[in-house]
Amino acid sequence: MGVIFTLFSGSLNGHDCDSSDNPSIEVSSRPSGSYTDKNSEEYKNAKAIFETLTKEVGFSGAGAAGAIGNSIGESGLKLHNPNTGGGVNGLFQWSGWGNTVNGSRITSEGSIKAGDVSTLTLENELKLMKFELNGAYKKVKTLVGKETDVKKATMNWFLYYEGMLGNEDQYGNLREGGAEWAYQEFGGASINANDSVLGNTTEASSDGQREGNDSDYAECGSDDDSVVSGEWTWPFASVPKEGPKLVGEQNFGKSESRTGGFHDGVDFGDAQYNGDVRAIHGGKIVKILKPGDMNVNFFLIWEVTDDGYGIAYQEFASDLSDISVREGDTVSTGDKIGVSRTGETGINDTHLHLGITKEKDLGKALSKSFTDDGTWLNPLETIKKGIGD
Ligand SMILES: [Zn+2]
Repeated sequence: MGVIFTLFSGSLNGHDCDSSDNPSIEVSSRPSGSYTDKNSEEYKNAKAIFETLTKEVGFSGAGAAGAIGNSIGESGLKLHNPNTGGGVNGLFQWSGWGNTVNGSRITSEGSIKAGDVSTLTLENELKLMKFELNGAYKKVKTLVGKETDVKKATMNWFLYYEGMLGNEDQYGNLREGGAEWAYQEFGGASINANDSVLGNTTEASSDGQREGNDSDYAECGSDDDSVVSGEWTWPFASVPKEGPKLVGEQNFGKSESRTGGFHDGVDFGDAQYNGDVRAIHGGKIVKILKPGDMNVNFFLIWEVTDDGYGIAYQEFASDLSDISVREGDTVSTGDKIGVSRTGETGINDTHLHLGITKEKDLGKALSKSFTDDGTWLNPLETIKKGIGD
């Protein structure tokens, strides 16, 4: 994780639900020179990242260089930074070292124990990196692993592996130069992505990389539990009453490309289903996740209705300015909750993924993202039934 400023959580419409959880501000200017010295630990770490990503994960040379640039920007390629006050540590400054305010990524693979310096070995950190790229951060394989442009690889690793979407102001000036250095030093230009190792990373990229984790889930308190309920509507005004025209992998259920062969919602990805996103049912906005929270790598609005539905509006937002509700808000059917800019943002393949479940605990619902056991309902059927004739 990158350095997350206090302002971030506070900037959500001035909402300060998380104000007690602010990570300490840690603006560091770490030394960046020594990694070029072939005898340094940092050089060895860079080389190991490069070889692991290209040989074991199938990354292109440019993609691997982008990762190294980020490690330079995050930790200066250090396995252990004793000065991390913000709860992060390791080559990529994973969360969960000193606290779990921003998640618990560093312990997710199992080899690294929070606060135990002896477990911050190169081997363990590379294991964690691979574990994440094959699991919760699969999307990075598509966006970075196949990249041939070093700058784009560096930016996408920053946005989606470091989880800094919305915090682009913290990109800094070390990453790109560092990535370019690695690209030259390790002969990145001659290494293409290896698709057979990268695996099928197509459409799965946008949905198939979160894994449930409710350990750091804390619901914002609210004294208003009464919500509007009953009526349903479609999330975009452009959807006709009888429902949207979705094709192939946009549909709920059986999926060719996703983990578990299952799509836990529907994707509104066409230009015709774009613009203002509306609440499909009245309810309370219980939680807003940003990339990196609860192992998701996108923004997610979690609404709970008083007739027992949990609704996930996810992936449409490219930053907080696309979200117009805040935690604790009560919304009525049809209220604007944000805006989807599909096709406008270029780098970010946004679309509204809409999920509906009878599970009211977000962590539990997310843990069933890849499992077709009835936790996630077919949103089209549920809404249609709700709209009636
Ligand atoms: Zn989806």
